[in-house]
Amino acid sequence: LTSRLPNVGTTIFTVMSALAAECGAVNLGQGFPDFGCDPALVEHVHAAMQEGLNQYPPMAGVPALRQAVAAKIAALHGRRYDADREITITAGATQAILTAVLCCVHPGDEVVVLEPCYDSYAPNIELAGGTVVRVPLTPGTFRPDFERIAAALGPRTRAIIVNTPHNPAAVVWTRAEMQRLAEILAPTDVLLIADEVYEHMVFDGGEHVSAAAIPELAARAFVVSSFGKTFHVTGWKVGSVAAPAALTAEFRKVHQFNVFTVNTPMQHGLARYLADPAPYLDLAAFYQRKRDLFRAGLAASRLRLLPCEGSYFQSVDYSAVSDLPEAEFCQWLTREIGVAAIPMSAFYEGGFEQHIARLCFAKRDETLQQALDRLARL
Ligand code: PMP
Ligand code: GLN
Repeated sequence: LTSRLPNVGTTIFTVMSALAAECGAVNLGQGFPDFGCDPALVEHVHAAMQEGLNQYPPMAGVPALRQAVAAKIAALHGRRYDADREITITAGATQAILTAVLCCVHPGDEVVVLEPCYDSYAPNIELAGGTVVRVPLTPGTFRPDFERIAAALGPRTRAIIVNTPHNPAAVVWTRAEMQRLAEILAPTDVLLIADEVYEHMVFDGGEHVSAAAIPELAARAFVVSSFGKTFHVTGWKVGSVAAPAALTAEFRKVHQFNVFTVNTPMQHGLARYLADPAPYLDLAAFYQRKRDLFRAGLAASRLRLLPCEGSYFQSVDYSAVSDLPEAEFCQWLTREIGVAAIPMSAFYEGGFEQHIARLCFAKRDETLQQALDRLARL
């Protein structure tokens, strides 16, 4: 068999979680909560199962959930998506992004990604036969460099993938930056895949400006969300995509022969749970408190804290502690200090080195405290 992805191994998240388990380390590597979800959400799913909602739902997703997603986007971002023709329920953001890439990228097309970026983007583009065009975010600040983005767009560019709030750099794009993106894309027919899985984790009174909120972007965008992130159920793998009808029609052609549809009772449970906006509106304050607790605890160490505007990741510059390259430092941190982290270099092709490690603070306070006690030795 000739590999379709010859340069790809097991993801860094799987590798570091396995190492954390083997070493008994506190796992601040892979991004997932170590606490449960709201019991009310589980009750809704349970009720749906008991009501017999256990067979295939419609291909595009349970109508009530599509309507709830459309209503949420309208309330938060002011754009009215048609739940029948413009919202699709997916198996998490991962399948949503792959499906968006597969439905628009032809062999030889170019897709722009902004590095550092989530590890699935480049392999998704390669599977579609596309060429990955990597544009660095501004070194040091990780903010978009629009001159370089504009320079990367050419006649073969089919799409650009933008992630805000950003994993791993925790930067949140401003309204002005989203508008600048719209200006740059205006003279092109480049599509936008907007990965907004951390949409409800924006701190210090900042705002998440969705591509759905900028009409010129929304007209060309697949806007991707993840219920796993928002409701502390990463293992459920349910997400959504909002896109104009013509894009959604193509998206669904691929979706129907990929997963066909996503599990029914979870969709009903999520639809019922979404009737109350409090759980997602309260999420920023919930995570901001954890971020602040974690940052305050790290202040005594020699780790230098990078800004964290959003997401549930806190990155640290460990230059004052070690000269090791990032992957080796994270292994050492896991084995010797007992805290697992993710090397920032994993989000770059060829592993660009900056002495930065990413720590996930979506953990119980006790877990964060245990990690802080260990990190205090640094
Ligand atoms: N995009 C980003 C930026 C992520 O961090 C993740 C992982 N949580 C995903 C997409 C995938 O999300 P999901 O678990 O819903 O597939
Ligand atoms: N998105 C999560 C992270 O960045 C992990 C998802 C995964 O394990 N693929 O840590």
